[in-house]
Amino acid sequence: MPDAGGAMRIAIVGAGMAGLSCGQRLSRLGHEVRLFDKGRGPGGRMATRRMEDGGTTLHFDHGAQYFTARDPRFVEQVAHWEASGVAARWAAAGDDAWVGTPAMNAPLKAMAGELGVQFGTRIEQLVRDGEGWQIDGEGAPDARFDAVLVAVPAEQAGPLLQPHAPAMARLADQTASDPCWTLMAGFEAPLALVQDTLRQRGPIGWAARNNAKPGRANEECWVIQASPEWSRAHLEEDAE
Ligand SMILES: Cc1cc2nc3c(=O)[nH]c(=O)nc-3n(C[C@H](O)[C@H](O)[C@H](O)COP(=O)(O)OP(=O)(O)OC[C@H]3O[C@@H](n4cnc5c(N)ncnc54)[C@H](O)[C@@H]3O)c2cc1C
Repeated sequence: MPDAGGAMRIAIVGAGMAGLSCGQRLSRLGHEVRLFDKGRGPGGRMATRRMEDGGTTLHFDHGAQYFTARDPRFVEQVAHWEASGVAARWAAAGDDAWVGTPAMNAPLKAMAGELGVQFGTRIEQLVRDGEGWQIDGEGAPDARFDAVLVAVPAEQAGPLLQPHAPAMARLADQTASDPCWTLMAGFEAPLALVQDTLRQRGPIGWAARNNAKPGRANEECWVIQASPEWSRAHLEEDAE
């Protein structure tokens, strides 16, 4: 039950952009929010991968490449990120393109730091407990919540929702994400390519010189994402 002031205890499953944004807003409204994510750190589909190669650290933003801000509320949020140094414009992708700095996941890292997220916790099941909820999964707390918010990709939301909200589960099950084969390539020297981005070139949907984004180290790193059609046609092949 919410307390006398209407404040609720809310569990949020998934700490990507959606879960963290909801968490931030609910927390500012006075609710008690706890976030859980199966990943090792912040990012979700806005993740950044670090790799060691002969003493050099390479960085690749392998999910979302940039974002735009059009809704006035998001514009305000992005201005706040810019002022705190965790986002910057990236003109190579467009006049209205933004990226996290020094890595794509930086805004999420900042939000996760403020809210506190329990990473490494996969929620397997939501359990009705009287008027409230419990969440099940290794490492999940033995606690009762007034509400649970599911902020995971549709395909993963279906099984969690099924016992409690079959109509929503059906909607989630009918939503299929486009696949995206992504190549992360590091080079010893800068490639002789004038542009920092390529779009729609045969099988390549998008490619970007990751180190050309603001705030990155100099090592030449490219993220090359295949088009959804090419990715679908080659989905089951070995990565090599
Ligand atoms: C390859 C690729 C390229 C993209 N390019 C762009 C782009 O250029 N511009 C753009 O605006 N958008 C882009 N997107 C889309 C954008 O990344 C997503 O829309 C956005 O990041 C989704 O945020 P989310 O919070 O909804 O989900 P996610 O970021 O997926 O977050 C969900 C979180 O839930 C966690 N989770 C899942 N199941 C469980 C569970 N059972 N228990 C606990 N935790 C769980 C996951 O670990 C994850 O961290 C791209 C996406 C991909 C994959």
